[in-house]
Amino acid sequence: MSNESPCLTCGACCAAFRVSFYWGECQSAGGTVPDELTLQVTLHHACMKGTEKNPVHCTALVGTPGERVSCNIYENRSSTCREFDIFNEDGSVNEACVRARAFYGLAPVSR
Ligand code: SF4
Ligand code: SF4
Repeated sequence: MSNESPCLTCGACCAAFRVSFYWGECQSAGGTVPDELTLQVTLHHACMKGTEKNPVHCTALVGTPGERVSCNIYENRSSTCREFDIFNEDGSVNEACVRARAFYGLAPVSR
């Protein structure tokens, strides 16, 4: 059985929601996220380019959602991206993951 993460054949959350975070996470403010891949959305928040409009598709997402994907800035991605997962910290299902997958015709990830 493969131990590969289901996220590698999904990527739906990177192409379904606005991905915003505190602007201090941008490189110019001492963070990790490359500024040129972001847009300012409020006084204190930036978002990943491509997630501010429909159809949503983060500019750092490589590949096709539901097939094979990767993140171009994986090591430098924001806390929003790092904290979004299939399951919540308490082990419950992340309903936003379920919704994003459903948008691309994918069933929820089973344990
Ligand atoms: S929607 Fe869920 S399964 Fe798909 S990439 Fe995001 S966290 Fe992973
Ligand atoms: S930065 Fe990477 S992990 Fe975050 S939304 Fe974009 S592609 Fe997904």
